[in-house]
Amino acid sequence: MVLFLQPDSKMPTGEDIDKYISAELPDKDLEPYLYEVVGDSMIHGPCGPANKANVCMIDGKCSKFFPKPFSAVTKVDAGFPIYKRREDGRMVHKKGFDCDNIYVVPYNKDLSLRYRAHINVEWCNQTRSIKYLFKYITKVPDYVNASVGRDDGNDDIVDEIKKHYSCRYVSACEGTWRTLAFPTHYRTTPVEKLSFHLPGQQLDVYNEDDPVEEILNRISVGKSKFVAWMEANKIYPEAKNLTYADFPSYFVWHLKTRMWKPRRRGFAIGRITYVPPSLGEVYYLRVLLNIVKGPTSFEEIKTVYGIIHEKFKDACYALGLLDDDREYIEAIKEASLWSSRKYLRRLFSVILLSKSVTTPENVWNATWEILSEDILYNQRKKKKNPRKIHLIPKLFLIIYLLA
Ligand SMILES: [Zn+2]
Repeated sequence: MVLFLQPDSKMPTGEDIDKYISAELPDKDLEPYLYEVVGDSMIHGPCGPANKANVCMIDGKCSKFFPKPFSAVTKVDAGFPIYKRREDGRMVHKKGFDCDNIYVVPYNKDLSLRYRAHINVEWCNQTRSIKYLFKYITKVPDYVNASVGRDDGNDDIVDEIKKHYSCRYVSACEGTWRTLAFPTHYRTTPVEKLSFHLPGQQLDVYNEDDPVEEILNRISVGKSKFVAWMEANKIYPEAKNLTYADFPSYFVWHLKTRMWKPRRRGFAIGRITYVPPSLGEVYYLRVLLNIVKGPTSFEEIKTVYGIIHEKFKDACYALGLLDDDREYIEAIKEASLWSSRKYLRRLFSVILLSKSVTTPENVWNATWEILSEDILYNQRKKKKNPRKIHLIPKLFLIIYLLA
């Protein structure tokens, strides 16, 4: 299980970590029950020089890096914790060896006492460790190396039990969890989808045979999420400092009453519905919505420096939000260095058809000389083959008008 802590609950220092995680044997007299649990289930191995034959040993070393070094205090080293393991003489007898603090697997006192089980609790603050843990959650079942032997250690009598088995133990709760396909991890961010529309163009869904009066009397008529936002801006002074996208962080949309109310708990982020530039005014309205704070009417959205503009596009221009199509002009100029004029005109047509140019006239005015450089040459050729040469300027003109 990976738990992400809220900023004010994070544990940045060694002392913070000590409050929740321990990697030492408890005092046998003061906490006898905990001592028993830790001794039973939180001791690694023993391995290393104490027991070279332990299953964790690979090429003479413990694959889990036990025994750990002693440390007087808990400290964080480049995102990795080094837990406090004092050389205090505390021991627990395990498999014929006396194990001290360097063999203790980090645990949480409360969890160990409550569940009497092997529960390894670790602190991590590294992207690498977090990624590793996510992999752990989603990867295939984990295996342990285990061997079956006799209690008296005399394995010579029955040879078969020395054999290793490849098995898997699935506990009842894990089995149920997986059978019912419950999620193994979960994280979510609430997103409030923010629709918007031009004046008087809000959507309303009704059945063909619904009576007109009933439709008109519906609470939803004329009360879109977007219009209700502007209404809320009239009521709440704090809304005056928020854009439409900021709004859901501080206000909650109540579908039943179709009203925005100040948020009391939780959080959400707002996302304004995407529209392509080819839709014209709706697109420019969207551009303005990312800037304008707390408007109470459509007119206010279109107002720039005290002037109410007729179109949203004009307001965008007045605010300097629309680029001057410089990138398209530069693209044609740059291509003119190496390409034929025929190619350039095709490029210009493609740019126009992409409908991403704000003011095609500006691009034309800045590049028409380059685009028509071969006109005189073509006129001369025209006498020989008039039809073919006429075709290009005409085609190009038609496309331009369409756009
Ligand atoms: Zn080991």
